[in-house]
Amino acid sequence: MQFDQPSGMLLAMSQAATATPKETRPTPISRVEKRRRAQADTRPRVTLSFYRYVRIADPQAFQERLQDAWSEFDCMGRIYVASEGINAQMNVPKQYFDAFDAWTQAQPELAGVPYKIAVDEGEELSFYKLAVKVKDKIVADGLDDDSFDVTNTGEYLTAAEINQYVDDPDAVVVDMRNSYESEVGHFDGAIIPNVETFRDELKTTPQTLKIHEHKKIALYCTGGIRCEKASAWLKHKGFKHVRHLQGGIIDYAHQVKEQGLENKFKGKNFVFDERLGERVGEDTISTCHLCRQNKSDTHYHCLNQICYTLFIGCDGCIEKRAGYCSRKCQMIDKLPSKHKKTLARIYNQKIRPLRTFKKTRLG
Ligand SMILES: [Zn+2]
Ligand SMILES: [Zn+2]
Repeated sequence: MQFDQPSGMLLAMSQAATATPKETRPTPISRVEKRRRAQADTRPRVTLSFYRYVRIADPQAFQERLQDAWSEFDCMGRIYVASEGINAQMNVPKQYFDAFDAWTQAQPELAGVPYKIAVDEGEELSFYKLAVKVKDKIVADGLDDDSFDVTNTGEYLTAAEINQYVDDPDAVVVDMRNSYESEVGHFDGAIIPNVETFRDELKTTPQTLKIHEHKKIALYCTGGIRCEKASAWLKHKGFKHVRHLQGGIIDYAHQVKEQGLENKFKGKNFVFDERLGERVGEDTISTCHLCRQNKSDTHYHCLNQICYTLFIGCDGCIEKRAGYCSRKCQMIDKLPSKHKKTLARIYNQKIRPLRTFKKTRLG
C-alpha cells in the first residue's frame, strides 16, 4: 500500500528491536503552548484507541521502542505500558496511518490487536503531544491481581446482543464508567453507579448488584478495557452470568451504523482526550452545571489552570463566564502571574491533599 514516508521512519524501524537511549528532554512548555503548536499542524488525523493484556517482560524498553517509533510517525496520544500490557489512546496523521499500522502490527506484543477508531473526530484535536508512560497497571483499578483469577473474564456481547439485554426484564445493564462520563450518555435503563473513580466502582458494584444476582448482567465502558477486569472481578465475587460489551461504546456505535441496528445508547460518549466526547445518540440528556437549567452535554475544563475543573456548560454560560467555571476563577485568572503562582502553590500544598478526589467539583 502507498503511503508517504515520514522522515526518519526507516531509522526508527531499524532501531525498533533495540532500546535506544533517551534523548535529553527539552525544556517543558505550557499546556496552552503545546496546544497552539499542535493546532498549527492541520493535517487530517485518525483518532484511535486499543488495549491488550499481555505479558511485557521489560516495560521500560517497550516504552522506549513505542515512543521512538510513533514519534517518527508524528503520532500524539496518551499510552500506558505496564508488565500486564498496554492501554493506548492516540491519533495518527492520515497519511502515515498505513505505515503506523504496519509497524505496530509487526511488534510481537501487538500483533493482531484491534483498533477502535473514533466515532467522530470533532473539531478539537484529540491529543497534542505523545506521551508513552510506564505504569504499575494499565488501568488504575486498586485490585490485587494475585487475589483472583484475572483471566476468568466474562464472555463478550455484540451490539445486537446488548440491545436485547436492554429490553430483557431478566437482564441488567451496568455502566462501568464514572458518573461524569455516564452523565452525558448511557444505555437506556442502565444502572449508573454514582462514583468518581473506577476503584470506587469496583468496590460498590458487587453490593449494588446483589439484588440482581440471578439476572443476566451486561457491563459496558468506553472501549472495553475496564470491563475485562470488572467482569473477572464480579465472577470472582460470585456472579454467574456476567458478560461485557466488546469494544465498548465506541465499537457499539460503529456496529449500530454498519448493521442498521436501533441505537439504544442515549447522548454522548465521554472520551479522555481533548475532544471530551463524541456524539453517539442525538439526544442531550444532561444539564449545564452553571445555570442548572439549560440542556447541554459539552464538557469544558475551567480556563483557570489552578482550577482546571471539568464541567458541563451551555453556550450562554460559557459566553457569560468566558470559559471559566465561576466568577471567582475568572477573577483569579486576571491577577498578575506572581500572585497566581503563589495561589497555585498554596492550592497544591494545602488544599489539594485535603480534598478527596473529585473531578467534577461542580457536578
Ligand atoms: Zn448554563
Ligand atoms: Zn474554575
